[in-house]
Amino acid sequence: MKPVIALVGRPNVGKSTLFNRLTKSRDAIVADYAGLTRDRHYGEGRVSGREFIVIDTGGFEPDCSSGIFQEMAKQTRQAVAEADAVIFVVDLRAGLSGQDHDIAQYLRGANKRVLLAVNKAEGMSESPLVSEFYELGMGEPIPVSSAHGQGIRSLLDMALEGFFDEEDEEDEVDDENRPIRLAVAGRPNVGKSTLINTWLGEERLVAFDMPGTTRDAISVPFERNGQRYELIDTAGLRRKGKVFEAIEKFSVVKTLQAISDANVVLLLIDATQGVTDQDAHIAGYILESGRAVVVAINKWDAVDTYQREMLQRSIETRLAFLRFAPILNISAKRRQGLGPLWAALGDAWRSATCKMPTPVLTRLLHEAVEFQQPKRAGTSRPKLRYAHQGGQNPPVIVIHGNALEHVTEAYKRFLESRFREHFKLSGTPLRIEMKLSA
Ligand code: GDP
Ligand code: GDP
Repeated sequence: MKPVIALVGRPNVGKSTLFNRLTKSRDAIVADYAGLTRDRHYGEGRVSGREFIVIDTGGFEPDCSSGIFQEMAKQTRQAVAEADAVIFVVDLRAGLSGQDHDIAQYLRGANKRVLLAVNKAEGMSESPLVSEFYELGMGEPIPVSSAHGQGIRSLLDMALEGFFDEEDEEDEVDDENRPIRLAVAGRPNVGKSTLINTWLGEERLVAFDMPGTTRDAISVPFERNGQRYELIDTAGLRRKGKVFEAIEKFSVVKTLQAISDANVVLLLIDATQGVTDQDAHIAGYILESGRAVVVAINKWDAVDTYQREMLQRSIETRLAFLRFAPILNISAKRRQGLGPLWAALGDAWRSATCKMPTPVLTRLLHEAVEFQQPKRAGTSRPKLRYAHQGGQNPPVIVIHGNALEHVTEAYKRFLESRFREHFKLSGTPLRIEMKLSA
């Protein structure tokens, strides 16, 4: 499970700036997907191989009574409750304020690891003003500059201390016999527990003994048609006896953790509701995570022709950025469409872990260039020399050459579609990276 870090502090101290810095690398990856809805309050970060989830809590006003602030305070409390560590951000230039004291008092009662980040400290990290923040009783004030990236690394090291083993290794995904780690994601009431219970009740599915649950987590190993699966901590569900049932509260953090723990994510949408904001957000997280994804429109039995048309339109507009994902209509309750669903999940996994030999990639690259050259920029034309595979789940193709900064997004999409077609990829994002030849 990735550790969760919550950013807390009054408005204007620099929380969003810090958030953007911590999650920046991820942004770059998804920057070119049009139509992606992203809730900028949740993101994923990584520092030297250690991955974590960051929550930005907006502005925190502990005592405000007006609606929106109350809502923010509620969200902050939930974020703090779900966090493994809290970064309490204060503003060196503005100095200590009464609000900072209120927040400190609240955080002392929260029983969490709290780091006190004194932001906007560029050029002032040695200033005695930093020490003034000792007064908050939150331990040593750590001077940082979110805008300039100073002090961030050691702040993170402190926040993440103890969460990773010394030699945490990146998961290798080339073991053919490993189970597919599967997460079922979706809003409350879309039918997650119904589907899972239907699956587990299927004759062809062999459920193994369910191990005890930890931290509300569910992990169910099972086998279907010879393929092993592991149903992992699916957000919002709890085991009760032999069946699963939904728990009341929807948790973005749990959803994010489930998604990033999975190899393949099944996104469930409720046909009777269409694609809602929350569905689009969850889809956005899945895209950012790079996981393989299959979309199932559940409760297909309960919609008429008109609703189906509306649904089609909302999928086209709101999930356009998941265009690589297969979309299937199912009814968990009536056990309809489940065979094709398994097939799609299997395909997504095979696509995500597809092996792409360098000679094949390079040949495809040359054929693509022959078919259509990249556009000339000024006097130079990008030269694409060869390609190799840089990763799996998601697959990454690294293209080497010269003047690659002039390769347009449109041309990258053209290359992507050629690679996708050849390897028959379905249900996985494909990343194309450009690398200048030495
Ligand atoms: P939030 O309301 O806490 O999310 O604060 P923002 O991230 O929106 O930042 C508030 C203001 O502080 C913006 O004008 C930022 O440009 C500025 N700011 C953020 N971080 C730094 C920093 O490290 N140094 C300086 N000088 N300004 C910063
Ligand atoms: P969860 O919160 O995502 O786990 O959703 P549940 O599995 O608890 O389902 C919510 C409601 O939708 C329940 O009343 C189910 O009976 C109903 N439901 C689930 N799947 C289907 C389906 O395929 N068709 C119809 N008509 N109703 C369904």
